[in-house]
Amino acid sequence: MTDSTIFDKIINKEIPAEIIYEDEHTLAFKDINPQAPFHVLVIPKQRIATINDVNEDNAHLVGNLYVVAAKLAKQHGFAEDGYRVVMNCNEHGGQTVYHIHLHMLAGQAMGWPPYQNKKKELF
Ligand code: AMP
Repeated sequence: MTDSTIFDKIINKEIPAEIIYEDEHTLAFKDINPQAPFHVLVIPKQRIATINDVNEDNAHLVGNLYVVAAKLAKQHGFAEDGYRVVMNCNEHGGQTVYHIHLHMLAGQAMGWPPYQNKKKELF
């Protein structure tokens, strides 16, 4: 696994973040560059670099991200209208911070599909 990321500094409270949820395993804070009226990142406190590093031993930490997302959706009142959760993986997925995180986007209808420039045939 590669070096730690800026998210470790947020977990350790070495740099500020607008934290909206915290428990033993999971942290949620506002994205610094929001792409929707509500844009929160939900992360495991234990670093997992990418989705490719998810395995049987750490899968529960990933499951917790969805448990927290569901709680936040209800708490902030958009569970019924709906929302988008996204986890990017590596370069083609648009990942820039190598500590997995669930993007929670809500507060408006989301566009679909995200794949705008079709350069290859689909399988
Ligand atoms: P990704 O591109 O999927 O890896 O997402 C990384 C996200 O982290 C981006 O949406 C950034 O805006 C966000 N981000 C980076 N640094 C910070 C920070 N210090 N506080 C909050 N969000 C951040």
